[in-house]
Amino acid sequence: MYHYPGLAPFMPADTYDHRVTADRTGVVVVGAGIAGVACAGELARAGIPVQVRERARVTGGRMASKRFDGRPADLGAAYLTADDPDFAEVVDRWRAAGLVRPWTDTFVAYDPDGCREVPGPVRWAAPRGLRSLVEHLAGDLRVTHDRLVMTVEPGPRVDGRAATAVVLAMPGPQAALLLDPALAAATAAVTGQRWSSALSAVLRFPARRWPDFRGAFVNGHPVLGLVCDDGDRRGDGAPVLVAHTTPEFATGHLLQPTGAGPAIEQAVRDLLGLPEPAELTHVHRWTYAKPVAGAAGTYHLDDDGIGIAGDAFGRPRVQSAWRSGRDLGRALAARLLADRG
Ligand SMILES: Cc1cc2nc3c(=O)[nH]c(=O)nc-3n(C[C@H](O)[C@H](O)[C@H](O)COP(=O)(O)OP(=O)(O)OC[C@H]3O[C@@H](n4cnc5c(N)ncnc54)[C@H](O)[C@@H]3O)c2cc1C
Repeated sequence: MYHYPGLAPFMPADTYDHRVTADRTGVVVVGAGIAGVACAGELARAGIPVQVRERARVTGGRMASKRFDGRPADLGAAYLTADDPDFAEVVDRWRAAGLVRPWTDTFVAYDPDGCREVPGPVRWAAPRGLRSLVEHLAGDLRVTHDRLVMTVEPGPRVDGRAATAVVLAMPGPQAALLLDPALAAATAAVTGQRWSSALSAVLRFPARRWPDFRGAFVNGHPVLGLVCDDGDRRGDGAPVLVAHTTPEFATGHLLQPTGAGPAIEQAVRDLLGLPEPAELTHVHRWTYAKPVAGAAGTYHLDDDGIGIAGDAFGRPRVQSAWRSGRDLGRALAARLLADRG
């Protein structure tokens, strides 16, 4: 059984925090996507010292948005859906804060032989970009950006420093890069995951000249998988589309994603019958976009003190990633508090 020496005996939160960090770092959560932030939030609420380390300059992970001439466009997740009542409460809080709005329950599907309407669940969009939701969830958590974590070793140790426990909240192949193979249970959990790639392209046109649609699933197409009207999604009516490619197309362009821009733009113009070329094209590469085969349960937590969370534990959805992080945070907090008691 793994023990958490930094957490015993029980101390009031202030002194406890100080004393833990004197010899151990507390719990280190690697990755400030929604899974890592949800996990860290649960630990912090339970009074467990926790810090989040993120290699990027910003919080959000694959709920990514980037500004073009001051206007954000979503590059990763296109929207979110909520059929889990607990996640629906989180969405309600974002809505009350003015961060999300119900976008649409109707997409269209382009099939090789025509176009049809597809009813579905309500899709939620974020006018300031989906990243703003993860930032809101992070609240006043301690998140260190620009911090690439290199190694997680038995102890557990993160980049050579002892931690109370370590949470890897990221796609399995990224976690595998950090993990010492001696951490056998965690290594098995991440190397068992399979992931697919995607490219997403932001296309800004001189004017909105496409047929009325919100989002389009594109079936049986050699390049495109999804096209969303970002101006409609964001509510500002800007002439911006965001296209996601098929995994197969992306795989052929991972080394030089920018070079795929003209082919994606042409495919979108052909699909929607657009007369003018885009005035701005930006391509983003997602080497690990979505898990292909989900892992069992909603998280991994082993006796080496390593936790793993993310959308691999469920369908490739924001909701699954949130639930995975939340569940792992609760389980880890319960274990640490029980050891302490
Ligand atoms: C193109 C695309 C379209 C999608 N569309 C949808 C959609 O429409 N609806 C939906 O619900 N979901 C969608 N998803 C899935 C959704 O984005 C994910 O389920 C969710 O964002 C995953 O969150 P996460 O926290 O598990 O992982 P991530 O968001 O990937 O977070 C992992 C974090 O770990 C960081 N990290 C990795 N390695 C290190 C390291 N060594 N050191 C420090 N930090 C590190 C990364 O920088 C990243 O910030 C889409 C995803 C993609 C890519």
